[in-house]
Amino acid sequence: MNLTLELTTDQVISLIQQMPPEEKRAVLLALAEQAEVNRTARMDYAEAQFRKLCASRGLNWDTMTEVERENFVDDLICRETSLKHTSYSVVVELKNYRNHHYKDDINELPKKIRDEVYTNPFAFLIGACFDRGMDWKQAWEIPYQIKRRGKLDPAILASMTEKELSLLLESLPRKPRYGIPRGAKTLKDAASLVRDQFGGDTTAIWRDASPTEIKKRLQSIHGVGQGIASMAVRMLHDKWEMFAGQEYQIDIKADVHVIRVFQRTGLTHSKAEEEAISAARRLNPKFPGELDWPAWKIGKDWCFPTKPQCNSCPLTAVCGKHIN
Ligand code: SF4
Repeated sequence: MNLTLELTTDQVISLIQQMPPEEKRAVLLALAEQAEVNRTARMDYAEAQFRKLCASRGLNWDTMTEVERENFVDDLICRETSLKHTSYSVVVELKNYRNHHYKDDINELPKKIRDEVYTNPFAFLIGACFDRGMDWKQAWEIPYQIKRRGKLDPAILASMTEKELSLLLESLPRKPRYGIPRGAKTLKDAASLVRDQFGGDTTAIWRDASPTEIKKRLQSIHGVGQGIASMAVRMLHDKWEMFAGQEYQIDIKADVHVIRVFQRTGLTHSKAEEEAISAARRLNPKFPGELDWPAWKIGKDWCFPTKPQCNSCPLTAVCGKHIN
């Protein structure tokens, strides 16, 4: 008969303490042997990683002297630490700037447009969908202009053909800069989404849904990528205080201003959207989207593509100024 005896850690320690000295010593030697095996495995793993890092920098770990290896490791630790330190300082300053200066940019729009966007959820949806590849103020004016033509209704727009929608967009003083046909598809998809999947109620898209789920819904609309979807979700959070406790699902909208500031400050190394998004997730995991507005604002008002205004920029003390 096999008996299994379950002991707590305290019971095991007390048992060993009661053993005669020679048995106690045998237990300790066995444990030390095991620890040595684990240590050797860990050292082998670390050495393999250093070998790889050396190779990526054109060095050969196996032909290096002990002193060269030591210098290499010291240099690596030093560089990583200072890089992390710089990145976190930039993040702290971005958050500081947001805490002290945040203002809703929609307030810069004329009152009649602002009121439409904030009192009519469908206008909010259409404005957000068009806020890509064109001046943001013009994008948010589009729903207002559609309303003036009596068509700002999901049922009406969803029942129109793409040709009719193209004619409607052609008639507006503000047109999508990336093309009327694409804009018509966006309008059709947004209106159909509301009419067919949410019973004509735009707010049902974001009611009782997580940021991730809402982004997925919005991205089903033609031309709406992860950037626009993230921006819409962040605006819902900032304006209507939605998604408490779910901020970790709200990303930045990595537009040209945000990407430029991230790269110049040293948060990222390339112009790739994905790198900026994952840097924000890594450096501010509780609410990556918190870095969106301050980086956008600083990119728009100080960090110009040419002639950045570093002297007066709020990030000047912490910025790596990687300008080329
Ligand atoms: S303006 Fe200068 S200091 Fe400010 S973010 Fe751009 S490069 Fe950095």
